[in-house]
Amino acid sequence: MNPIDSLVALFSRFPGIGKKSALRMAWFLLESDASFANQLAHHIAALKEAIFPCSICGSWSESDPCPICTNPSRDKALLCVVERPQDVRVIEDAREFNGLFHVLGGVIAPLEGMGPEKLNIAKLIERVQKEDIRELILALNPTVEGDTTALYLQRVLKDSPVLISRLASGIPVGGDLEYADRLTLSHSFRGRIKLGP
Ligand code: ZN
Repeated sequence: MNPIDSLVALFSRFPGIGKKSALRMAWFLLESDASFANQLAHHIAALKEAIFPCSICGSWSESDPCPICTNPSRDKALLCVVERPQDVRVIEDAREFNGLFHVLGGVIAPLEGMGPEKLNIAKLIERVQKEDIRELILALNPTVEGDTTALYLQRVLKDSPVLISRLASGIPVGGDLEYADRLTLSHSFRGRIKLGP
């Protein structure tokens, strides 16, 4: 494969990038000056070396534990459970939540072979048992898989005194946290629904 085709094949693997867009990106690189391509290559190579998951919460970080987990002014009684590391960023940008996070690494999706054992749930239970957590806020997307995961978490934590709530209002059903705007997310946090115990 020639360099253009190789690059197009790689770009096409990005979410939302089809072959046409990938080709446009490759043409753009060819037409740009060399420093742009060099910078891009440098940052891509540095990304995987400089950024890794925090060993406590699982969100992307340059340090371990991450700045959120180690920040003394965060409310350690509140734990927000999200599907993916990028959801932490979305919620942080909304500036409504001042607690800690826990990234599950996905949601339960039996049809895709995604069982609870493949998610970061054991660590979540351990955190609930060991840390002084008062409320677990499930910021899961309102999908069938999100609902299944929320029910599962309620079940495995039923004997724990932790209060479980879920973001509900504002995020469209089947919608994605990533596309919720700041105001919507703020409303969702304030209007969260108590699930248990
Ligand atoms: Zn962390």
